[in-house]
Amino acid sequence: MREERFVAKLSVVRGDITQRSVDAIVNAANSSLLGGGGVDGAIHRAAGPDLLAACQTLNGCPTGSAKATAGFKLPAKWVFHAVGPVWNGGHSGEPEKLAGCYRACFALAQEHGVTSIAFPAISTGIYHFPKGPAAEIAVRESQALAEAAGVERVEFVCFDEATAMVYERVLGEA
Ligand code: ADP
Repeated sequence: MREERFVAKLSVVRGDITQRSVDAIVNAANSSLLGGGGVDGAIHRAAGPDLLAACQTLNGCPTGSAKATAGFKLPAKWVFHAVGPVWNGGHSGEPEKLAGCYRACFALAQEHGVTSIAFPAISTGIYHFPKGPAAEIAVRESQALAEAAGVERVEFVCFDEATAMVYERVLGEA
């Protein structure tokens, strides 16, 4: 087994994920992977139409998993399209499905040699997953998986101040 020689740095960044200069940004996509609103719309606008063409070849993606494309016009080399669960009260496997998104992204990171990755707050927008529990899952999975996947830097990119405050609290307690 490979020896791990670093501690992954986890940080909170306020702003627009499309602007991040990291190896991979994560998209909060829907299972068709054919475009949507929120962060997905922003990523498609910034990456250009080649991104949709690439997504059209992927045949969608199950909830709780992720698929990779190039980043096209983005600063990031890769986009990992993760499909988070729609919040439905919390008793339909939503936490496990959200964790699955993060696990799938770290598996893709390892596969593609990605050492820096930026996540949005998957499922916490249109899909209404509560922000606190979602941030706890994001931080827990990143701490568990980043180093073994070879990822040195994890950014939690928060579009609004309320989300950033939740991540700051969770990281402070972690
Ligand atoms: P979901 O359908 O998974 O809930 P959304 O795109 O609606 O996805 O929201 C996920 C999170 O991404 C929300 O916190 C939202 O505020 C945030 N978001 C929206 N646009 C951007 C952006 N350009 N960069 C980073 N985060 C964004």
